[in-house]
Amino acid sequence: MSLVLRFLGVSLGSPDSSPGGKASLGAATTSLKRLIPDPGKHRQKGLWAKDAVALAHLGPDPAEMQRGDLAVPVGLVNLGSTCYANAVLQTLYAIPPFRQALYAARPPLSQDPVVAQLRELFACMEWGRRDPLDPGPLVAALQLDHAVQQDGQEFMKLFLGLLEARFQAQNPLDALLRHLFRGESGYETRCCRCGRASASSGRREGYYELAVPVSGFQTLPESLTSLLAPETLSGSNSLACEYCGTKTEAERQLRLASTPPLLCISLQRFVFDYRKMDRVKINEALACPLTLDFASILSPDQGAAVAHVNHSMFSSQYPAGSSAWWRFDDTAVSALASGPRASSDHGSALALQAANAKLPPEVAAGSIASCTAYQLLYRREDAVLPSVALSEAAEAW
Ligand SMILES: [Zn+2]
Repeated sequence: MSLVLRFLGVSLGSPDSSPGGKASLGAATTSLKRLIPDPGKHRQKGLWAKDAVALAHLGPDPAEMQRGDLAVPVGLVNLGSTCYANAVLQTLYAIPPFRQALYAARPPLSQDPVVAQLRELFACMEWGRRDPLDPGPLVAALQLDHAVQQDGQEFMKLFLGLLEARFQAQNPLDALLRHLFRGESGYETRCCRCGRASASSGRREGYYELAVPVSGFQTLPESLTSLLAPETLSGSNSLACEYCGTKTEAERQLRLASTPPLLCISLQRFVFDYRKMDRVKINEALACPLTLDFASILSPDQGAAVAHVNHSMFSSQYPAGSSAWWRFDDTAVSALASGPRASSDHGSALALQAANAKLPPEVAAGSIASCTAYQLLYRREDAVLPSVALSEAAEAW
């Protein structure tokens, strides 16, 4: 019997995989129907006497897993403590060039277990008829422990790092993640005595996210201003100035040379508390504007290239042509009818789940305030996201 049940489970998972499977499934279902009592009734004896137990073995009722409207995003099953992965998957799925690139993967890239499972999941999220979907095969390919809650920011970073390494196998996907998420920044260190910038100040490095402090700030621009403000280097941190030939006090400042098309901002909600000698979570609300204006954050000499473009909170135009906002909470997906500003229960921007939606967000005009949001995605308004034609992608598949 268990073999039949297992067979049923597999077949229901991919009903279109083979015509033979369909026929066998029909026969098996008919014979099983005779064994399963009507709703509310149960058999008095035999294997099926404990109908609730038997039905539990059959898994969820397939009739309740039919996706109604393809325009409504699909939920993802939480496998235990994998809600952090679901939030990241929903976010990445909402980025059209990202999922198109996956569809366009060719062998050997498409045979990589992680890439193969991710694109199968995304294809089912886009065109499949089941809701919710089980990310189990992908989670297994990533060797994640279902029972261990991980940090969503950390997972996103590691996941993108892994995919970037795998994407190296295929041009032009090898440059995709860099193109979407990588900006450039550099530290400028200026001697307070001679006023000259150190030789290393011109060096630029890539960044994939800006990690900003939350504690003590009420708005994201305030927090970014603090991140980009000069700090004084003195004492043992003094600068060995190559012009003065001695150790001097200096000012060091982070400068943004560019922002990527999709700017990822991590809110640092965990800080180390030296009194408790432990990490503590900051549950303070931070108001995040729907449009981020760097001109009001950067000083005139600092990052002019960044200041002249607006960055708007990323929305995926999903479904095509609509600008609906959705709240994702594992299998529960709901539309925020009047957008994020009017919602009373959302904890974060698109797809990023609130750790505790019960906390009342303080919502200011043009901003989303949340006590729990930990990651934000902004789109640079002048950036053209690359696109892979669907027909091309389908051919590649
Ligand atoms: Zn100097």
